[in-house]
Amino acid sequence: MDIFRAMAENGHEQMIFNYDAASGLRMIIALHDTTLGPGLGGMRNWRYQSEDEAIADALRLSRGMTYKNAFAGIDFGGSKCVIFNDPEQKSDLLLRAAGRFVEMLGGRIYTGEDVGLTPGDVEVMARETHYLVGRPHKSGDPSKAAALGTYSSIRASLQHVYGSPDPKGRHVAIQGAGNVGSELARLLAADGARLTICDLRDDRAHAAASETGAQVVPSEAIHDVACDVFSPCALGLVLNAKTLPRLRTRIVCGSANNQLATPDIAEELRRLGILYAPDFIVNGGGIVNIADEFEDGGYRRERAFERVAQIGRRLLAVFERAQADGVTTEVAAERIAEERIAAVARQQRHFVPQPQPHALNA
Ligand code: NAD
Repeated sequence: MDIFRAMAENGHEQMIFNYDAASGLRMIIALHDTTLGPGLGGMRNWRYQSEDEAIADALRLSRGMTYKNAFAGIDFGGSKCVIFNDPEQKSDLLLRAAGRFVEMLGGRIYTGEDVGLTPGDVEVMARETHYLVGRPHKSGDPSKAAALGTYSSIRASLQHVYGSPDPKGRHVAIQGAGNVGSELARLLAADGARLTICDLRDDRAHAAASETGAQVVPSEAIHDVACDVFSPCALGLVLNAKTLPRLRTRIVCGSANNQLATPDIAEELRRLGILYAPDFIVNGGGIVNIADEFEDGGYRRERAFERVAQIGRRLLAVFERAQADGVTTEVAAERIAEERIAAVARQQRHFVPQPQPHALNA
């Protein structure tokens, strides 16, 4: 891969290649844009097929974090750590080495648990670095915040399409009854929504259904459910050329990352008259919750959740912007995020005199 060209094309600031001979650690740290503050993004441990694949993932994910953080209104830029390693082969030595490389950056990035790492792994890294977020004694598991942000986004989407945010009597089809999907089902059931749910794991789908009164359907049938909102809360790439013609919904709004298989799917959804709530906004609750750790006096759940509940309000602005500009909601959200970064960059152009020790002594 032509790394500098890839960096130039996507506006990346810095790529750092870290190697530790003792543990065999190979880790890439990608910093996309730190205009708004230090890079914030998780650490992923994956068995990539090649170095190029690992680099491409680090570039793509760190850029995504810039947009997610900028849009969420928090003072962090975008970064991502990618460990090129089989998650089954993790050792404490390897995790500690990863922690030392993060520490070396002295606060230029903050990171935490992502795919292929467990909360226990993060605690091992914490023996080497201060720059970790989402630890159990701080903001902890972000999934409840992610579910609340998704719920707030569904209300905003209903408002935009039907003129009322009330989920009562609306039919929501949830794909995935994991941490986020099952909590989302609870929140919507409390409002009197009608729910359909699925999960590859039957036990999870039925546990969520017995709590919320949802109807369970086989996972392969969820795209065909006639509903008001289809909410992908499982894996990425669920909106693709095969699933799109099957959708019978007015709204797609869910927590899963990278829902669009290709960028043109956003345009296709628009053409079909289906409102798409961009995933990086909908699932921003997790990151807003984490950012609260940096407030004076430390993390406070009520304050964090109040901010998470504002995600819907931000999303409404995206829907309006998309209509005004005649673009997809995805493009409108990116424009809003880019404008925030540009505004802060302009502000920082002011000249600030630094004290000159020799001048003071003269
Ligand atoms: P999870 O692993 O707890 O739950 C995902 C569930 O989806 C699992 O029960 C799994 O069996 C099921 N699943 C996988 N493929 C499926 C398919 N094809 N059909 C039906 N079910 C399927 O994960 P989670 O924490 O609930 O996160 C859900 C999504 O939201 C993920 O895409 C995640 O990246 C994203 N997200 C989560 C958070 C968070 O804080 N947990 C934050 C931001 C984004």
